[in-house]
Amino acid sequence: MPDDRTPDSAPENDKPQLFIKTYGCQMNVYDSDRMSDALAPKGYETAKAPDAADVVILNTCHIRENAAAKVYSELGRLRILKEARLKQGRPLTIGVAGCVAQAEGQEMLDRAPVVDFVVGSQAYHRLPQLVERAKDGERLVETDFPTEDKFEHLPQPSKKVTLGRGPAAFLTVQEGCDKFCTFCVVPYTRGSEVSRPMSQLLDEARGLVDAGVREITLLGQNVNAWHGNGLGDAASNLGRLLFALAEIDGLERLRYTTSHPRDMHDDLFAAHRDLDKLMPYLHLPVQAGSDKILKAMNRQHTAQDYLQLIDKLREARPDISLSGDFIVGFPGETDEDFEATMQLVRDVGYAQAYSFKYSQRPGTPAAVQETQVPEDVKVERLARLQALLNEQSRDFNAASVGKTMSVLLDRVGKRDGQLAGRSPYLQAVHLDAPMHLRGEIVPVVIEAAHANSLSGKLADISATDSLVKGDAA
Ligand code: SAM
Ligand code: SF4
Repeated sequence: MPDDRTPDSAPENDKPQLFIKTYGCQMNVYDSDRMSDALAPKGYETAKAPDAADVVILNTCHIRENAAAKVYSELGRLRILKEARLKQGRPLTIGVAGCVAQAEGQEMLDRAPVVDFVVGSQAYHRLPQLVERAKDGERLVETDFPTEDKFEHLPQPSKKVTLGRGPAAFLTVQEGCDKFCTFCVVPYTRGSEVSRPMSQLLDEARGLVDAGVREITLLGQNVNAWHGNGLGDAASNLGRLLFALAEIDGLERLRYTTSHPRDMHDDLFAAHRDLDKLMPYLHLPVQAGSDKILKAMNRQHTAQDYLQLIDKLREARPDISLSGDFIVGFPGETDEDFEATMQLVRDVGYAQAYSFKYSQRPGTPAAVQETQVPEDVKVERLARLQALLNEQSRDFNAASVGKTMSVLLDRVGKRDGQLAGRSPYLQAVHLDAPMHLRGEIVPVVIEAAHANSLSGKLADISATDSLVKGDAA
């Protein structure tokens, strides 16, 4: 998802201007903010567009093929801008960060002469030096996994900058993955699993809340594998981290993503049962409903294991809304295997979900399987799956009409006088509301359901009494 938040300052002074374009998941959105933080002590401010910037960084995603292609076509556009700027005597420095950068390294410099530096996801704390050297004319690649902890070297943003990013913040707690699903590049581009220490995370969370943040989403490629050391140095788990974060006064809402079914654990179920601050929503990808395909994917769980987890979750938090990821057309997937995925979707009932055609990623085991599924079959299966998921999502949203939900108003809506935010179940909600309520959690009566969102009106404040557990404003 592109990061379309409004930058905190316009390029109307002589400070150097930075523009970061973000591709891919929320982890990249978080990383882009931390890259801005790394360059802030050098005076860099956020530009509104590449034309106004002195440094442009593309923070890329490599998960599916067309993502890398998008980066190269953006670099084509930037080449034209860079040439024009050279003629004006105002040079433009261009960097590529993220997973495409990590995967391609030197190859990217060779293939795209417009690029001045390539920086992998573990080296963002070295950006100030990289940018300076690139400005002096060097072309650089920094894709090693350094021994030092980048998070210890990344400066924290000011309160003003934090609040400018909105009242709902991301916090990366874990990076990398050791699961090696046979379709996925993440273990190669992001490296092996590393958990940040609990004390570092609690400090960062308190800093966010001090600045006015009300909701924190914990992030990780495999977030529920987080096993950082607890405060007493003993190994901990994500469930216990959530209990510790819930103690922070002023922090009203917690979420976490993305989880792997294998790493669901008892403390996490307990957190869903006991913590009102933990929102009733979980993104728990399953990828496929056929055990044969799950095995070939090296998912390390069966469809039945997954369904049992869903039962346990619903026991802990009956109103939990569920989301998932699905891949259709994985090598060797027959019609029967695909029907098993459709059946699993019917059995679970998702509030929303992401579904993709299998994409051959170089260097992954599935890419060299001889049983690749023809494109037209993938297209047809994806259309059928998405029709089912959309129907479930529409039903879920329609069932919200008439309810009063707490909504964190985190952004300005598209129309004048409109604010928008998220329900506890992560539905987008739009309503007419005074601008001073931005950043507040308010009760909203849901009046209508649309394809991907809800609309409503501010409820009488006494309506908070009837909000469900976890909705409390
Ligand atoms: N760690 C998470 C998990 O195991 O569920 C998922 C992280 S991955 C960055 C996000 C999603 O991209 C995956 O769940 C999968 O559905 C999709 N994905 C990854 N590799 C893919 C590929 N080669 N082709 C299609 N979709 C892919
Ligand atoms: Fe990729 Fe997720 Fe599998 Fe790790 S667990 S390899 S990130 S799909």
